[in-house]
Amino acid sequence: MGMKVNHHYQEVKESYLFAEISKRIREWQEKNQDKAAQLIRMGIGDVTRPLPKEVVKALKAASDEMGVAESFHGYGPEQGYDFLREEIQSYYKKFSVQLEKEEIFISDGAKSDLGNILDLFDRGITALVTDPVYPVYVDTNIMQGNKILYARAGEENGFLPMPDSSVKADLIYLCSPNNPTGAVYDRAGLAAWVDYARAQDAVILFDAAYECFVEGDLPHSIYEIPGAKECAIEFCSFSKKAGFTGTRCGYTVVPDKLVFSGQSLRKMWLRRQTTKFNGVSYIVQKAAAAVFTEQGEKEILENIQYYKENAKTIMATLDSLGIYYTGGKNSPYVWMKCPDGMDSWSFFDKLLNEVYVVGTPGAGFGEAGEGFFRLTAFSTHEKTKEAMERLKTLLGR
Ligand SMILES: *Cc1c(COP(=O)(O)O)cnc(C)c1O
Repeated sequence: MGMKVNHHYQEVKESYLFAEISKRIREWQEKNQDKAAQLIRMGIGDVTRPLPKEVVKALKAASDEMGVAESFHGYGPEQGYDFLREEIQSYYKKFSVQLEKEEIFISDGAKSDLGNILDLFDRGITALVTDPVYPVYVDTNIMQGNKILYARAGEENGFLPMPDSSVKADLIYLCSPNNPTGAVYDRAGLAAWVDYARAQDAVILFDAAYECFVEGDLPHSIYEIPGAKECAIEFCSFSKKAGFTGTRCGYTVVPDKLVFSGQSLRKMWLRRQTTKFNGVSYIVQKAAAAVFTEQGEKEILENIQYYKENAKTIMATLDSLGIYYTGGKNSPYVWMKCPDGMDSWSFFDKLLNEVYVVGTPGAGFGEAGEGFFRLTAFSTHEKTKEAMERLKTLLGR
């Protein structure tokens, strides 16, 4: 007998992808010690540009405040300080989205909230995710004992699957711009998902971690779509936007209009957070607020432009080679088709062994990712250019 554990943890697959990549790189390095310095990593899923100076300035100033009795801050509001939530409110106005301060919740990042949000829903419900997919959506649902359905993304739909009204789901995960494919929904695409969710009485969990990469008239927020406040929760993060992957801050929007089984999801989330969370540190929230200052915005834009230059280098190379890809334009990710019908791990090995370049095999993000490969724009200009020269040499035809 003994303790009954959550047996669903045994159903979660080992996180095989990045462990396997590391293992293959290690083996290559042992055999190729003379070439080890030439390795270029184009699979990095983390930002590399340092924090903007304006953000560092705010971190230091807030740290100093904490060391003085008159300006010391103890426990803060679980939902986040008003000064930061008000900045976020103003930011959404740029997309003509009106949010109440009470609908905005500050967190230590999008990943925690994406997992924690499942506290609001019954166990055993059905989650619809895309394939390929950001693995967090799948694993968190398995841990809850939920059922998972897949909407296939592929060349046939430009890696932007559309809803199928014959499929019944309770939760719908959308990530746009997408990780891993870089594909981004337009308004019509998101509107179709909003209509589907409302017809099903389902909730959309919209992951906007890459909204800062969006250009032109494409939507940054799902709330730009009429009716979305009745069916969607939005998750956002300072990680990719401002280099906060190691500093940790994000925010989740739970609109007041989200009412299911007579319950306000916003009130439930507030109850959940005030019970299980004690807020993000004052210092980090001050740093996050600096992201919205004029100088902060300017520096952030420079970093995003830096990554976008890399994405352009990658796209130009693939264009010249005639290789199909998605992403790159509104995203730091370029999702390329493996050449000559290769499977994604064979292409991984070929790139590593022949030109010492590392990327991420698409098969690691789901069955539909087989035959595709993810390159990221998070390296330096120099290394990205060099890696693309090598790709041209490898595939030059
Ligand atoms: C990086 C990333 C996040 C952000 O996670 P944080 O916990 O805020 O660092 C969320 N969703 C996706 C798809 C991501 O790639």
